Amino acid sequence: MPKIAIVGGSGIYNPEGFELISEEFPDTPYGKPSDPITVGRISGVEVAFLFRHGKSHQHPPSSVPYRANMYALRKLGCECVISACAVGSLQEGFRPGDLVIADQFIDFTKCREYTYFTDRTVHISMPDPCCPYLSRVFAETAEGLGMPYHLGGTYVCIEGPRFSTRAESAMFRRFGDIVGMTMVPECQLARELGMCYCSLATVTDYDCWKGEDVTIEAVMRTMAECLDRVLRLLEAGLPAIGAKDCRCAESAEGCGATAAGDV
Ligand SMILES: [Zn+2]
Repeated sequence: MPKIAIVGGSGIYNPEGFELISEEFPDTPYGKPSDPITVGRISGVEVAFLFRHGKSHQHPPSSVPYRANMYALRKLGCECVISACAVGSLQEGFRPGDLVIADQFIDFTKCREYTYFTDRTVHISMPDPCCPYLSRVFAETAEGLGMPYHLGGTYVCIEGPRFSTRAESAMFRRFGDIVGMTMVPECQLARELGMCYCSLATVTDYDCWKGEDVTIEAVMRTMAECLDRVLRLLEAGLPAIGAKDCRCAESAEGCGATAAGDV
């Protein structure tokens, strides 16, 4: 079964060179995942691909079934989650078109289901929420492909679905580098299940702090232009994933429990 899951956001809808093996739509204690999960191969590497918002974008950020998604991927045997997503930039140096391999997040979401541990108190350890090993692999791949990238960056996660006001955007600039709507709780649920998480975020716009309004048309246009680049990154990066020298899984077990035992 696939060890690597790819969760795609806006834009990454038709992975070229995807060799289909099967389609899975597992039941979980948290309902069905966003969409049937496509198991196949990219560059010979077996992966499980899930459209985060569903193929017809039926799940807005606040109602993506995050718990079912991560649980279903774990159930299929995945040990790593690679998240492809679109983000706004909060800093001049993070330009539209750049790839940001986020290493931190700040949570400004308000109404999501954040944990599998609802019947016992478990304080999961999250000082470094993203997998340093996977992040390094994709940074080296981006370097080799000559793509503009940032290894590290703080992702401010907002509830959405609306974009920020100018006052919010000015505030978020003091906290982070990029702003998006999906990393939380996806990243922490992956950790609770002992899976490594790697965020490959494509900058689509400068949010509204720079003066220009953010529109979904502009976001989709930039994402479409960058889609080919994300696919090339995956095609080149996936075969480079080897034995992980990270402590993501242990970090979940360190708090005395991991939800993976229940999968
Ligand atoms: Zn890891």
